[in-house]
Order: sequence, then C-alpha cells, then structure tokens
Amino acid sequence: MSVTHDVPKADDSTADDGMLGALLRQDAELAEILLAEGRRQSTTLQLIAAENFTSPAVLAALGSPLANKYAEGYPGARHHGGCELADVAERLAVERARDLFGAEHANVQSHSGSSAVLAAYAALLRPGDTVLALGLPYGGHLTHGSPANFSGRWFDFVGYGVDAETGLIDYEQVRTLARAHRPKAIVCGSIAYPRHPDYAAFRDVADEVGAYLIADAAHPMGLVAGGAAPSPVPYADVVCATTHKVLRGPRGGMILCGGELAERVDRAVFPFTQGGAQMHTIAAKAVAFGEAATGAFAVYAHQVVANARTLAAHLAAEGLVVTTGGTDTHLITADPAPLGVDGRTARGRLAAAGIVLDCCALPHGDARGLRLGTAALTTQGMGEREMRAVATLLAEVLRGGTEPAAARDDVRDLVGEFPPYPN
Ligand SMILES: *Cc1c(COP(=O)(O)O)cnc(C)c1O
Repeated sequence: MSVTHDVPKADDSTADDGMLGALLRQDAELAEILLAEGRRQSTTLQLIAAENFTSPAVLAALGSPLANKYAEGYPGARHHGGCELADVAERLAVERARDLFGAEHANVQSHSGSSAVLAAYAALLRPGDTVLALGLPYGGHLTHGSPANFSGRWFDFVGYGVDAETGLIDYEQVRTLARAHRPKAIVCGSIAYPRHPDYAAFRDVADEVGAYLIADAAHPMGLVAGGAAPSPVPYADVVCATTHKVLRGPRGGMILCGGELAERVDRAVFPFTQGGAQMHTIAAKAVAFGEAATGAFAVYAHQVVANARTLAAHLAAEGLVVTTGGTDTHLITADPAPLGVDGRTARGRLAAAGIVLDCCALPHGDARGLRLGTAALTTQGMGEREMRAVATLLAEVLRGGTEPAAARDDVRDLVGEFPPYPN
C-alpha cells in the first residue's frame, strides 16, 4: 500500500510551475538555489529525525494570498481590517487541531516549536520559577533550560536524566528531584528520546508536588495524530508541538490545553510573545491537520514506526549500539564507536555519501552518537526492504568498506526510485 502523498497532477503543476516560473523569470540567481535544494533533497537520503516532506497542498497554502495578510489578534477580534477570510481559515485550523487531538482548546499561531514552549512558560510561570525538565545532555531541547536560551536565563531549571545503561528515563529520579525542588512546572519531551514518555507517571509526580505538566511533543505529535503513539493530551496541562516534524505540515508550532487555560495561553502567544499571525502558515497547518485526520495518514504513521524498528534492528545487526535497544517512534539514536568512528566523523563521512543525519548526545559518557529518523523516507514511500538497504549502506561507509563517493551512487539509485514529489 502506498503511504506517499496523493498528488493530483494538475494542481501540482499549477502550484509549482507558477511559483518557480515567476521566480525564474525575475530572479534566476535565487531560483537556481531553490532548484538545487530540490535536487539535493531528492537525490540524498533525508534521515534527519525532525524533517519531512510536506504535501504539494501544504506548499500551495504557504505560497497563497494569505502570505500578504496582516492579522494581529484572534478570529473575531483582530487589530486589522480585511480579516474576514483569515478568520475563517484560522477557525478551521483550530477546529481541525482540536478534533485531531481531542483537545478542548488549540492555539495555532506559534511561529515555531520554540515559540510554543516560550508561550507555555509565559502562560504558567513567572521569571525565577523552578522547572524540572530532561537535562540537555540527555536530549532536552534548548528551551528546556539551556543557558544560551531564554529558558535557562529566565527560569531556574533542574534536569532529570536517563539511565546510563538502559537509556530510559528514570522516573524515580524525576520523583525525587520533584520532591526536593518543588518545581512550578515539569516538562516532558525530548529531541532524542526514542521511546514513549510515560505521561501518566509524569502526571502523577506533577500532582504530588502541585506542578503544572507541560508536554513538549514536538517530535511525536504526528505519530499521535496517526494513532501510532500515546497522546499527552489527557495528561498534560499544556501540550506544545511543532507542525513540521512527523506531522508533515508547514514549519510552525501549536499549543493545546484545557478550556480553563485557553485565555492565558492565547494571551501568552499574542500579544505577549508574538505579533501578527502568519496566516499563510496557519492555512497550511489547517491543510496538514486535514491530511493527518485521514486513514492514509494513520497508515503512514504506523509505517514510520515499523520502518524505524526495522532500521534500528539492522543497524544493531551491523554493530552499532542502538540506545534503549530499539525504538517505539520514528527516532533512533546510536553509537557508531564499535565500527571504529565517533559520531562527528561518522556524520561527515555519511554526508559525503549522501546520507544526511545528525549527531546527538549519548546516555553513556561524552562521545557523540548519531540521531536518525524515518519520517521523510516513509513519506517518499520507502518500506522495510529499503530500511535494510539503508542500514547496510550506512554501515559499509562507516566501516570503510565502501568509499563515500562510491556509496553516493548507490544512494542516488535508491532514492531515485522514491521521488518525494513525483510528477
Ligand atoms: C523541534 C523541537 C522544538 C523546537 O522547534 P523549532 O520549530 O525548531 O523551534 C522544541 N522542543 C522539542 C522537544 C523539539 O524536538
């Protein structure tokens, strides 16, 4: 069964040719950069866990007349004229997000995942409050207390960790730290955790110490939409997410919460931390929520996980040490050291072979590992057979059995069979 985008040919050509055609005629220099980026994306393996290919319909909404519209405020209460249709678009996005995730309230204006987390903190916390979150060395996001980020500057973050052996969150440590530090909020969510967080356990700890529970589900939210991961919505006071990772929408963020926090969350987004809403992106979010509500997307989300499990198993068979011994999600982290390379060297060598992925922290020690995800390859229509091929190629390059330049040809042949935007 195909899990790729259904691409109506006529729509595709009008959207694409129209936009790039105008750009080519006016600004060949920039158009050439965009065409080259399209070639890069369609001739190399996109294994960055946070990336995906949006549908042509989402891209069309991004390039639509709503890109021209100013719409500060919320539907029915804007600071600008001419917002009648922007209001309809935003109401549709909000309604679809609420239905998709079973949430009482949705705010779809956050410009990014980080903006959504900033707004969640602004809604619930005061500067100087204590927050308990996964430490950055264990896969916490910048917004979970990095000293280089507003979060670390304005709040007093305490970090919990993962077990050095198992790589799993230590819920007893979470409870002990919560009792000792009495945080105002507990954050669950990570950029690199391959397993499902135990939302009920986090809720239990939060209740015990009287803390808010904020779920930063930026990564797994698309799996949640497709029924392939547990939902944080019944457990967390506020759920933050991105719309561009597994969820496969435009770059942006969203916030879900119960009715009692709705007004605080909305005010925390606008006017507290943002100005005018990006209405073209909100329209594209509505399109993505509509897609994510279909049976085809549920099939996609489950295939993403099946592919990740297969890829993890074959990477382990090739000798990499897969953190937690596998994955529940789209995301895998692994230590390539047994193949004789550290994470950073591995990333560079793989990049030369056209295998694009990230480095990440590992639960044990200071060495860097590799972080991969299957959201984009699965959108292209790749299945478990291709995951085996990817694992073999990757390991061959790391072992030095295949020169990166030679592997580059194999990669081009493999992805050539799965164009992200087939005409
Ligand atoms: C991706 C991510 C973010 C931030 O998203 P941006 O859109 O890049 O700002 C925040 N938190 C987590 C856990 C993420 O994975």
